[in-house]
Amino acid sequence: MRIGPKTLRNRFYAVPHCAGFGTEKPHTQARFRGVKAEGGWAAVCTEWAPVSSDADESPYFSARLWDDDDARNLALMCDEVHAHGALSGIELVHTGVHADGSESRLPLVAPSQLASPFEPSRVPKAMEKADVRRIQEDWVRAARRAREVGFDIVYVYGGHSYLPLQFLSPFYNRRRDEYGGSLENRARFWLETLEVVREAIGDECAIAVRLSIDAIGPAGVELEEGLAFVRLADPLVDLWDVTVGTLVGLGRIDSGSSRFFAEGYQLEWTGRAREATAKPIVGVGRLTSPDRMAEIVRSGVWDLIGAARPSIADPFLPRKIEEGRYEEIRECIGCNACYSRAIYGNHLGCTQNATAGEEFRRGWHPERFERAGNAGDDVLVVGAGPAGLECAIALGKRGFKRVHLVEAESEVGGIMRWVPSLPGLGEWARLVSWRRIQLERLKNVEVILHTRLSAEEVREYGADVVVIATGSRWAEDGLNGVTHAPIPGANASLSHVLTPEQVMLEGKRPPGERAVVFDCEGYVVGAGLAELLALEGFRVELVTPLGEISPVTDETLEGPLLRRRLHEAGVSFRRGVGLTRIAPGTLEGEDEFGEQLSVQADAVCLVTQRLSNDSLYHELRAGERDFALYRIGDCVAPRVMVADAIFDGHRLAREIDAEDPAVPLPYRRERALAEAVRSLLP
Ligand code: ADP
Ligand code: SF4
Repeated sequence: MRIGPKTLRNRFYAVPHCAGFGTEKPHTQARFRGVKAEGGWAAVCTEWAPVSSDADESPYFSARLWDDDDARNLALMCDEVHAHGALSGIELVHTGVHADGSESRLPLVAPSQLASPFEPSRVPKAMEKADVRRIQEDWVRAARRAREVGFDIVYVYGGHSYLPLQFLSPFYNRRRDEYGGSLENRARFWLETLEVVREAIGDECAIAVRLSIDAIGPAGVELEEGLAFVRLADPLVDLWDVTVGTLVGLGRIDSGSSRFFAEGYQLEWTGRAREATAKPIVGVGRLTSPDRMAEIVRSGVWDLIGAARPSIADPFLPRKIEEGRYEEIRECIGCNACYSRAIYGNHLGCTQNATAGEEFRRGWHPERFERAGNAGDDVLVVGAGPAGLECAIALGKRGFKRVHLVEAESEVGGIMRWVPSLPGLGEWARLVSWRRIQLERLKNVEVILHTRLSAEEVREYGADVVVIATGSRWAEDGLNGVTHAPIPGANASLSHVLTPEQVMLEGKRPPGERAVVFDCEGYVVGAGLAELLALEGFRVELVTPLGEISPVTDETLEGPLLRRRLHEAGVSFRRGVGLTRIAPGTLEGEDEFGEQLSVQADAVCLVTQRLSNDSLYHELRAGERDFALYRIGDCVAPRVMVADAIFDGHRLAREIDAEDPAVPLPYRRERALAEAVRSLLP
């Protein structure tokens, strides 16, 4: 498929997405994107790449392109992507009022002096004409540098309510000059920027625009105006990359989690772009089903299947489709752990793909596994939760003669046997189903169910290597991080005190209508139980010592929608309150000011903290043994993100033939070295 002067080898397009690497971790960036190219994507893009220092995104790591050194860092990515036959794209942007500026300390700029809707303490400078020119010149300089180091596709990115969209949107733009007012005026900044960038590099690079085509609310424009902009800008654009909305709030959401949005959910709006252009269009929507993709391309609404998350969860998705290996596709579960891991200067990770982000620093490849030095050993993995499943699979792929994965229950999955039954989390079941399929294919791994092993039985098993992956359980006495003590009166053997496992696995329910969920964790379990009980007809109050309901879901782009959904289900909220005593019918608590209060409730469900099921491990560790002993996952420390338990299991398998596999090998770190920085001194 041709886009401007370039040709894509197929219709799979890895769209820009943040990873936490930017220009600051150039080798990590290069290998991460390079593996996608190897996996068959026709184009692989960077994350957002600010062109000016007043679009400084620190503490986030962006692919900023301010000078030649930045360009040299990003050149590594271009080279790796090209080596695998794909095109490389860079998402040049100015983020306007949504910049951070914590490193540069420069004032934010925007079309008008209106505070950020997301960070209302941030008030920008209203851009003067000189600012308009300066930023457009920065854009051209960045585009030239991008072309020089080999980028094939250069974005004039305004989606997700960044500066060009801020100009286009009457919500941000109240100008009275030629950059405000009518659509033509509001589009002027974007069109002029496109013109100068095209003039500078358009004969050698494809010019792409990423546009939130429908971004109602504090995000930007509505569909009809989005389409009108496409018509206006069309002659200047080689590729339309269309999304919806922004990344936060209650309006349209890009990167929507599976809790709220089905596969292909953006088509309702982005599918309309064709009405306004005959140019190539790429869209996204967590697409992982080959049939759905084919249907979309055949229908003609888009030309290219775009993916961020599906390309993180499975960088080899195009190759697997090409080779008809459909059942091997590691489908994204839509949890958005990747996003939460990539922001705030963090390092990307993925629930489904433990190797994401580890390609360079740990040398892990998603599809290639080295035969282990001790592959002749027999391995016993105890516990088939996420950590045990992942470890057994990776050990199997490392060529071990015999791996036994022994599970006490009647099915594999551990906590994932019940978490996907919480409202909206059905797609999370893919985590187990993909691993079940892998296990069936690995002839050297045997799964043994219905078998709860004691220490004695493990000792007698005859394995050379034993991995304990027995997981964790929720505290039954209210032990929590606020008081580091149980809650007086909390005892899960009583009818009015419940644990998550009792609710989800044993069917235990409150003895009366009024239920409190006491959530000290702030992620999926507390909110999920509250919604589940409310949907069953209980009058539910979600009480938390935290300042917000489910704050971790704000990092997965779900917070506002989740709170609205709980509210609609009839759940009431009490923030900043700790429980101090539990009695039948009444809970006593203390608010953030130290005031005592009581809540009338027939039962309380305790989501306070988890504890590792580590007794088997310690018993084995204390006794005589003639095998190597390790433990992984929640049995070591219960992690809020299941991605981390999976990572732990994968890590052990990758390092099982290291000198001491219990101690993680150091990983390569990319940082500014004093020696290199000395050259910058006068
Ligand atoms: P993780 O997230 O670390 O994988 P989980 O709690 O999800 O932890 O899973 C732990 C699994 O280990 C559960 O399925 C549990 O039934 C199983 N398990 C716990 N103790 C034993 C044991 N002694 N023998 C076999 N399986 C066990
Ligand atoms: Fe998909 Fe979750 Fe992986 Fe992100 S972390 S790519 S949402 S499976």
